[in-house]
Amino acid sequence: MHSQLSLPSDRSMTALRLEQPGLGLALRRVAIPQPAAHELLLRVSVCGVCRTDLHLVDGELPLHRLPLIPGHEVVGHVVQAGRETSGFAVGERVGVAWLGGSCGHCAYCGDAHENLCDNASFTGYDRDGGYAEYMVADARYVFRLPERYDDEQAAPLLCAGLIGYRAYAMAGPGKRLGLYGFGAAAHIIAQLARHQGREVYAFTRPGDVRSQNFARELGAVWAGGSDEMAPDDLDAAIIFAANGALLPKALGDVAKGGSVVCAGIHMSDIPAFPYALLWGERSVRSVANLTRADGEAFFRIAAELPLRTRTTAFALRDAQKALDALRAGDFDGAAVLRCRD
Ligand SMILES: [Zn+2]
Ligand SMILES: [Zn+2]
Repeated sequence: MHSQLSLPSDRSMTALRLEQPGLGLALRRVAIPQPAAHELLLRVSVCGVCRTDLHLVDGELPLHRLPLIPGHEVVGHVVQAGRETSGFAVGERVGVAWLGGSCGHCAYCGDAHENLCDNASFTGYDRDGGYAEYMVADARYVFRLPERYDDEQAAPLLCAGLIGYRAYAMAGPGKRLGLYGFGAAAHIIAQLARHQGREVYAFTRPGDVRSQNFARELGAVWAGGSDEMAPDDLDAAIIFAANGALLPKALGDVAKGGSVVCAGIHMSDIPAFPYALLWGERSVRSVANLTRADGEAFFRIAAELPLRTRTTAFALRDAQKALDALRAGDFDGAAVLRCRD
């Protein structure tokens, strides 16, 4: 174990970096970062590929720094623990998610809303992430992952699962749940919803029969194009796709009192729609980021349920190919990078 975790003598690593939006990721040799007092140095095993990474690389989100190593669904093993960390053993497996740090003293942090902290730092956005062989993470923000998932199965749980779970919790307890956009997050949340006795209605891009079949395989009672009406009134809807036109569509599908939750960090403009769609105490809200409490709650559930994540693996050096495949909708479930090959 120790020999596996020793660092290369030149302390350099392979990383995929965003250096200029629109130009894709660059394969580089860079210095392995040094962990600060509160940080862990991790050997990255697997890093999930999230649509947010694609928004960053494509320049659809404002960048906070460049160059940047993306990746916020990181499963890694502790190589070195900073002197103010406690309870982490060398070799131990941990997960790193999107929330990389928060200020701890603002009104949001004080009110269990660290996800809204104005000075939060996000993994693979404000801090370098897991598209690399090594990374550092604040030990206070990492998660211990349920044993039942291997590294590749666990990676998508760290954002698709976790932020999907926050959106799911916000959507309320109704029986009929619509999922708009059937990618990495929806394929996990559909399984959770089924286990909790709900009916899942899956909306995909019109004509995307493969994704519709995948949704049915995972227990959706109905799957169809986002241009089709739901066969029954829905109690709640979660929009995972980045298409703003889905919002009035989903409002039209939910019953009075129902809710529509927008789960993505980026969405195209929402077209104007008649007030009648919102009338009847329907509500619309977004879900931003995650709290550590969300992670603890979600991983407790994931430890009990046999969630099966469908993954398509790419080598670290092929991260750009993984992003291109995600953009094109070439696979079901989640893409992951194997960072140890
Ligand atoms: Zn994400
Ligand atoms: Zn704060």
